[in-house]
Amino acid sequence: MKIIAVGGGKGGTGKTILAVNLAYGLARRSYRILLVDLDVDNPCTYTFLDIRLRTIREVYTYKPKILEEKCTLCGECIKHCPVHALILIPERKLLFFPTLCEGCLNCMVVCPEKAVLEDKTVIGWVKQGSMDPIDIIVGEIKPGERKTDEVISETLNYALENADSYDLVILDMPPGTDRGVYEALKHADLVIAVTEPTRLGLNDLRKFYKLIGLINKESVVVINKYGLKGGVYSELEALVKELKVKVFKIPYDEYLVEAYISRKIILKAFPKSPSAKAIREIVSELATAQA
Ligand code: SF4
Ligand code: SF4
Repeated sequence: MKIIAVGGGKGGTGKTILAVNLAYGLARRSYRILLVDLDVDNPCTYTFLDIRLRTIREVYTYKPKILEEKCTLCGECIKHCPVHALILIPERKLLFFPTLCEGCLNCMVVCPEKAVLEDKTVIGWVKQGSMDPIDIIVGEIKPGERKTDEVISETLNYALENADSYDLVILDMPPGTDRGVYEALKHADLVIAVTEPTRLGLNDLRKFYKLIGLINKESVVVINKYGLKGGVYSELEALVKELKVKVFKIPYDEYLVEAYISRKIILKAFPKSPSAKAIREIVSELATAQA
């Protein structure tokens, strides 16, 4: 079993479209594929595959429960809350803002009256579905919650516990370079860094490669939307030359846009399009590497 992480610093570069099409293309070559959606703020891989998901695990975090009858409004907990999730209205009330709480439980430890109990709350879900021969595991954070790293970690753990029966695990990574992304990338055998020919794409690719450098992973770059007007092509070429990595280019065509809007698999809906041809080349390269 090998793990391929499809990531990149910037959102909107086409990571999900690529991850889904790679899963589809490799499954057509008889590989057993587990697709794992770690973009927990906006998971949408399953919509391209028309898969119905079922919840198989709830993700919890610890939150304090304050017993008003025991609280003397001493204010000690407020001094030790790192994120200002507790506010004291003097001589009247202690206010708690659950969505700001990081679950460190400092307040429970320092409360002299034992007025704070340990409680837990659901912050997200791990879901599962299947469209033979692709199985999918999806992490999703509860609206309003901010602990994306915890949901990513729980989703990834569940996927890894169940990964042995697959040939390839494809991780659809969230944008950014946060701790959750870093921890997930550490498990990858190959990182596919997806970017676009814009200045933002260029800068974020540079940032993303600092992260890849830290974990020393094999990687390739995919420049999506190649041909987009006003692109920073020479600067991108210079960067990938400096990185000494293999580059694939997916041309910007109307099929790519249509596939995204109508949630279609390009390889299936528009197999003769230039973008499908470019994606098939990546599929072939991965299949050769896997053989
Ligand atoms: S658990 Fe930590 S973050 Fe949450 S309210 Fe208590 S001190 Fe603040
Ligand atoms: S430390 Fe305990 S008693 Fe003091 S304000 Fe906080 S909850 Fe109330």
